[in-house]
Amino acid sequence: MSFDCDVVVIGGGPAGSTAAAWLARAGRRVVLLERDRFPRFHIGESLLASVNEALDAIGAADLVHDAGFQQKWGATFISPDGAVERFADFAIARGVPQPQTWQVPRDRFDELLLRHAARSGADVREQQRVTEIKFDADGVTVGLDLDFRSGSPDRKSRSDPRTFRARAVVDASGRAGLLAHRFGLRIAEPDLANVAIFAHFSGVPRAEGRRAGDIRVVARADLGWFWMIPIANDLMSVGAVLPREAFKSVSRTEPGALLSRLIAETPPVDRLMVNAERCWPVRIERDFTYAARTYAGDRWILVGDAGSFLDPVFSSGVAIAMESGLEGARAVDAGIARGDLSARAFRRFNRRQRGRYRAFRRFVRGFYTTSFRDLFFSQDPPQHIFRAVITVFAGYWRPSPITGFWIAMFFLSVRLQARFGFAPSHLAPRRGDAHAASPARAPDVSRG
Ligand SMILES: Cc1cc2nc3c(=O)[nH]c(=O)nc-3n(C[C@H](O)[C@H](O)[C@H](O)COP(=O)(O)OP(=O)(O)OC[C@H]3O[C@@H](n4cnc5c(N)ncnc54)[C@H](O)[C@@H]3O)c2cc1C
Repeated sequence: MSFDCDVVVIGGGPAGSTAAAWLARAGRRVVLLERDRFPRFHIGESLLASVNEALDAIGAADLVHDAGFQQKWGATFISPDGAVERFADFAIARGVPQPQTWQVPRDRFDELLLRHAARSGADVREQQRVTEIKFDADGVTVGLDLDFRSGSPDRKSRSDPRTFRARAVVDASGRAGLLAHRFGLRIAEPDLANVAIFAHFSGVPRAEGRRAGDIRVVARADLGWFWMIPIANDLMSVGAVLPREAFKSVSRTEPGALLSRLIAETPPVDRLMVNAERCWPVRIERDFTYAARTYAGDRWILVGDAGSFLDPVFSSGVAIAMESGLEGARAVDAGIARGDLSARAFRRFNRRQRGRYRAFRRFVRGFYTTSFRDLFFSQDPPQHIFRAVITVFAGYWRPSPITGFWIAMFFLSVRLQARFGFAPSHLAPRRGDAHAASPARAPDVSRG
């Protein structure tokens, strides 16, 4: 049987680059096909501490360290009126070996990982749009759209291949989700069908000292929230996320005017934006959050957003992408070694990928309820519980049994708060707020 390579990786975001780099370093022949030419814009700049382990595993930790990105030690969560600031410092959490991570302009970070995959030995090809993936008993054939680059200065040459034949395919195509769409695997999450409105700004003051690199997450009374991510010297990524219900009433507003209005009605953000200047047009992303019925099949696996996507409130996207890229790569490598690339052989990967998504999803769903926020922003949260919760916020979704116990206690308290309201509920949506979401419709988060 003749193959062009062992594995085709589709997509060169963090998931695809991680998978390709690891497989190439393990001695596999890898072709990575990426639709765009890098550097390219991507939203999602705040990393979790667990990313350090993925970077170590592919030998890219020093590269990222030397790139001069903004250091990040944690997140600061701010209540809607600004009265409570809760600093989640990754260094106080249990089971977080390297608490310091990074805020990254994604054009630079993604390009750095893609070039690293190439240097690791992967055959990286940009501006190659995959349109076909055909499976048979002996392998997989990946087909390209040959007209894709027509009109661009570096027009495709006639000698460029139309197809690549491989033993297995890693789908890392992000939210395009080539295989998930083809096999009808996507599971929507209507409760989390939120909308993000965002831009980059200069002239926004940062916090001082160790907290200067924090992501600031400012809760809004309508159960939405703002992110403020210091990504480079004077550049701040600022975005609002609204539950779909809250967005409906403002959806006709022009995006620039809408972001300005949302800033103006969120006092802790408004105060920081007095001298801010927008650096590019406001963008909108919607239809957040989906899972997949399965994350692997015969000769294929889904990694990163190609499999599942979670609302970004806890900045889990790149961490999930890189960790699943790594584990997916190991699963494919082991499958090639054993001569078994069947769905059965990928059972463990599949189970872990589902577990990873559910562990974060439980927190994300919680954040959109008043009972979760009441406890999270309460005056003196019990330290055992708070530290346990930060372990997950740092990206460690499978913590030790003791940490798991305290997390279970937290969610039990959230359920009790929803039922009996034992803690003060100063975060309930304002009465008469034009686009306040009803807490009565908040999902039950206790079971994840
Ligand atoms: C509003 C918003 C805010 C976010 N904030 C954060 C954050 O702060 N922190 C965080 O960690 N995450 C955040 N995320 C999530 C994060 O951006 C993603 O989870 C992450 O980029 C996933 O990486 P990936 O490699 O799976 O996919 P991507 O980074 O999307 O990469 C997929 C690649 O596949 C390529 N591709 C697609 N189709 C094809 C094709 N047919 N052929 C070839 N190539 C193809 C694309 O060009 C792309 O380069 C945010 C997301 C949103 C929407």
